[in-house]
Amino acid sequence: MRLGEVINLFFMDCLGVNEKNNLTIGGADVAELAAQYGTPLYIMDEDKIRENCRVYKTAMEKYYGNGLVLYASKAFSCLHICRAAKEEGMGLDVVSGGELYTALKAGFPADYIYFHGNNKTEDELRLAVENNVGHIVVDNKYELELLNALAEERGGNVGVSFRIKPGIDAHTHDFIMTGQIDSKFGFALETGEAEEITRYAATLPHIDVTGVHCHIGSQIFDVAPFLLAAERMIDFIGDMKDKHGVLLTELNLGGGYGVKYLTDDDPVPYGAYIQSVADTVRAAAKKRNVAPPKLIMEPGRSITAPAGITVYTVGAVKEIPGVRTYVSVDGGMADNPRYIMYGAKYEALTVRNPEAERSKVVTIAGKCCESGDILIKDIAMPPLGPGDLVAVLTTGAYNYSMASNYNRIPRPAVVMVRGGKPSLAVRRESYDDIIKNDV
Ligand SMILES: *Cc1c(COP(=O)(O)O)cnc(C)c1O
Repeated sequence: MRLGEVINLFFMDCLGVNEKNNLTIGGADVAELAAQYGTPLYIMDEDKIRENCRVYKTAMEKYYGNGLVLYASKAFSCLHICRAAKEEGMGLDVVSGGELYTALKAGFPADYIYFHGNNKTEDELRLAVENNVGHIVVDNKYELELLNALAEERGGNVGVSFRIKPGIDAHTHDFIMTGQIDSKFGFALETGEAEEITRYAATLPHIDVTGVHCHIGSQIFDVAPFLLAAERMIDFIGDMKDKHGVLLTELNLGGGYGVKYLTDDDPVPYGAYIQSVADTVRAAAKKRNVAPPKLIMEPGRSITAPAGITVYTVGAVKEIPGVRTYVSVDGGMADNPRYIMYGAKYEALTVRNPEAERSKVVTIAGKCCESGDILIKDIAMPPLGPGDLVAVLTTGAYNYSMASNYNRIPRPAVVMVRGGKPSLAVRRESYDDIIKNDV
């Protein structure tokens, strides 16, 4: 935000301001939640999360029909959200034994779980096979052979699809760009790797080859790379049918739809994304003379990021004349490592009087022992002092799920607001939690 400006609260449409002039999320008073649950605190508007699920699901039904939307649980995983995703009729994407275990414990139906990852361990695969997880997205040959053996041991078959690198350069940060050849994920199209593994898998007795998957990156604002990926993948499906008689009936185009972190960010509405992708998939399938595949999408960030904020209490304010003013808060990189990892940018509001004029440029810093532990560098804010509450916006994805205990800082609680009423989804860690595995 620029100096003197007043932020538009509806930048995140689940936020508002009440008669006490306090920030609200999903109708609940953020200052009251901070008083009740302490800070730092993750607060999510569950109604907004559910609405986001419905936007995708409805668009898939309307524009394509034979499809499934998976919530990519790595964005934010806990029992509560897995139950909500199940109630909304979503499938679930998991990428580790821990995420899978959480989903299973939440009662998520195993047939609607897709298990991803570039190095699933034998134990993780065993957990998946024993619980009849419907779909394993195979990343490499080692894993494929391991799965075949595990399925044989158990006396059944496993449904697999393949992670393909379609060779697309989506315009986003290098670290979160995954569709190009130099990526640790999946099999490349242009080198023939993808063809080779598909042909080989079809010869394995305990493997049912069902489909192909790609995920070209994250925080993508443009629909063009998704359409290009869809066309290349359909071409591959056509080639496998024509050359090897292998029928790939599912096309999973991954996630990566961008969200608004800054007031100037301008994501494509998700329904419009799906409409264009659906049209492209149908047209490409027709051209290649293959049946339109079951279409799968895996949004993560765009389901939860715009529904979450993190609330901090300001402590020390350090003014370095002619240099900068550091406003330090009671959290930081341990609850939100995205600045230190990617230089990610965020907006923030004061919780009391959020529409106050922004008269001073400050840097909001965390409390960890790293100079890089910054939440927001150079943001115009209203005057801030000890005890003030600050809300960092759009933190509903890749914050709690990336949180650590660096400096032995307990992880914050997560509160979900539904129908204006808060409920605790994840308890705040205690110091005893911090030492509980120490021997
Ligand atoms: C991370 C990931 C997603 C979700 O990406 P978002 O950018 O959060 O939408 C979906 N599929 C796969 C395979 C992923 O790795």
